[in-house]
Amino acid sequence: MDKLYAPWRDRYVHTQIKGEQSGACVFCEVFTDTQSDESRLVLFRNQDIAVMLNLYPYNGGHLLVVPKNHVAEYYELPESILHQLMSATSKSMQIIKKEFNCDGINFGANVGRAAGAGIPQHVHMHIVPRFAGDTGFFTTIGESKQVSVDLEKIYKNLKPHFDKNFIG
Ligand SMILES: [Zn+2]
Repeated sequence: MDKLYAPWRDRYVHTQIKGEQSGACVFCEVFTDTQSDESRLVLFRNQDIAVMLNLYPYNGGHLLVVPKNHVAEYYELPESILHQLMSATSKSMQIIKKEFNCDGINFGANVGRAAGAGIPQHVHMHIVPRFAGDTGFFTTIGESKQVSVDLEKIYKNLKPHFDKNFIG
């Protein structure tokens, strides 16, 4: 039944790491390369955290909230970063709920490879909009489903909401 509670399993996320072979971390790159937000689907960034669209979403609007810190455990993060992560996550959920008119939202994290993390070396939160009809399919398949969504369109629709008054 654990799969019921982990729709954000990172089954496909690791394939989006462009520099995987070279050992580069796709999340660290978000903080070192600040000029490629559109191609990296970064919706919000400050010096501590970033919010981005998952390139391999469970549903349209599947977001990742990432701290700058390259750590594998949440308890290694400073209080101030933890605070911003939760603040950005809750604000993101507010935006997602309004923009996607979803019936529910899953949010959480996979910590460690055994828990389904595709990038276990750098913690990240998932936010997945859920709809009344998607549960049956999900419980049958039990893992990430293939979705075809227009990420570019979703990015353009969401970006203005992350550009103003996001988090302090
Ligand atoms: Zn990293």
